[in-house]
Amino acid sequence: MDDCIFCKIINKEIPTEYILDRDNFIVIKDIVPKAPIHYLFIPKKHIKSMLHLDMDDSKLLSDMMLGTKEIANNLGLNEKGYKLVVNTGKDCGQEVMHLHIHFLADL
Ligand code: AMP
Repeated sequence: MDDCIFCKIINKEIPTEYILDRDNFIVIKDIVPKAPIHYLFIPKKHIKSMLHLDMDDSKLLSDMMLGTKEIANNLGLNEKGYKLVVNTGKDCGQEVMHLHIHFLADL
C-alpha cells in the first residue's frame, strides 16, 4: 500500500528500530512509547485490521502470538507478564490502518 506508514517501514523506505525481522512479520519499537517497553508486531502483508483477516492468515497470527512469548522470554518477563492490545477501527483508537499488535511491558 503506497500511503501506509507500516508498509513503508517494511519496504525499508522509512528507518525504524527493529527488534525482530521474520518471514511474515516484523517487531519494531513504537515511536511514541506508552510504557517502558512498547513494541509493535506488524505483519509484512498489508491487512487493514482484525476485521480483514481470513483463514489464510491463521499461521501468521499464531506466529505473531508465539513471537510475543519469545520477546517476553528474551526480556525476562515470564514472572511480570505483559499486555497485548489490538485497536480495531478508528472509533476504537486504530490510527494506522495496517494490523498491528501493541506489546506493552514494565521492566
Ligand atoms: P494504533 O493507534 O493502534 O493504530 O497505533 C499506532 C501506533 O503506531 C502508535 O502507537 C504510534 O506511536 C505508532 N507509530 C506511528 N508511526 C510510527 C513509526 N514510524 N515508527 C514506529 N511506530 C509508529
